[in-house]
Amino acid sequence: MTILPSAASIPPATIRLRLPAAVDRHRIVWSYAVTVGVYHLIALLAVLPWFFSWTGVGLAIAGIYVFGGLGINLCFHRLLTHRGLVCPKWLEHGFAILGVCSMQDTPARWVAVHRRHHEHSDRQDDPHSPLAGFLWGHVGWMLVENRDLVRLGIYERYAKDILRDPFYRRLERTLLYPIIVVASWAVFFLGGFAASLLTGHGVETAARFGTGLLIWGVFVRIVLVWHITWSVNSLAHLWGYRNYETGERSRNNWFVAILTSGEGWHNNHHADARSARHGHRWWEIDLIFGFVCGLQAVGLAWDVCKPDRRAIARLVGKRPKP
Ligand SMILES: [Zn+2]
Ligand SMILES: [Zn+2]
Repeated sequence: MTILPSAASIPPATIRLRLPAAVDRHRIVWSYAVTVGVYHLIALLAVLPWFFSWTGVGLAIAGIYVFGGLGINLCFHRLLTHRGLVCPKWLEHGFAILGVCSMQDTPARWVAVHRRHHEHSDRQDDPHSPLAGFLWGHVGWMLVENRDLVRLGIYERYAKDILRDPFYRRLERTLLYPIIVVASWAVFFLGGFAASLLTGHGVETAARFGTGLLIWGVFVRIVLVWHITWSVNSLAHLWGYRNYETGERSRNNWFVAILTSGEGWHNNHHADARSARHGHRWWEIDLIFGFVCGLQAVGLAWDVCKPDRRAIARLVGKRPKP
C-alpha cells in the first residue's frame, strides 16, 4: 500500500502549476495533432443520415467496453503499467491488440507516460496534470513537444520490462502497429459490406452500410474512448471525493467511473496503484475488476493484487473526505 505523504504536501486546489520545464509550447507534435483533428472530423460524418444505423451506434457503444475497457483500462493500465495481475501471454497480447486499435500509441509509450504521471503526480514534471489547466491535462499535453517524453529516454527509464517482450518491441520497430490499425478498419467495413450483400442489398447500399459501420465502429468509438481516457487525467484530478490522503489531487469521480468501468475511482488507485481493484468501498462499482475475477475463476488470470485490507478497514465508517 503506497499511501503518499501527508495532507500538508498536497498541492492546494487553487494552485496553477507551471507546465513541465521540458515543454516547448510552440513546437506542435504534428503526428498527434493531425491524427486527433482528422479523427474528430471523420467522426462528425456520423451525424449524416447516409451513414447512420442502429447497428453502428451499438458497435460504437460496445466498442467503448471492448477496445477501451479491455484494451486500455485492463491491459495497458492495470496489467502492463501496474502489473496488478498476470495473464497467459496469448491473452495479454490479444488485449494489447484491442488497445492498439484504440489509437493511444504503443503499449510501451502508454506505460512509460503513465508511470511518469504516477511518479510526479500533480507536480511540475507530471506530463498531464490538470492543475496546469483543464485542457492541458485533458489533451493539450500530447499536442506540443515535451522533451521529457522523448521516446527512447522514457523507455529506458520506465518501460524496459515491457520492451523485453518481442511482441511489444515489434510494435515499436516494425509496421505491425499500423497494420493492426488498418486491419481493424477493414474488419468493420468489410463486415458491414458483406452482411448487407448477404441480406439481399445492392453493392451501393452495401458500401454505404459498410462505411457507416467504419465511421461509427472505429472513428466515433476511438474519439469517445479518447475523451473517456483523457477524462481520468483531467476530471479525476479535479472533481470528486477522496478516500485517502495521497500526495496529489487525485479524486474518486463517479461520472468517470461509470464511463471507464471503474477507472474513475482514481484516488483509490493513486493510494494503491498496484491493486487490480480500483473500487474500494462496496458501492464503488468496478466492472473491470469484476472481469478480472471472472478471468481468475476460469484460470486465465492469477497473482491478482488486491488493496490492503487494513487500509480499507480504516475507511469503513468514515465519511469520504471532501
Ligand atoms: Zn492520476
Ligand atoms: Zn495508474
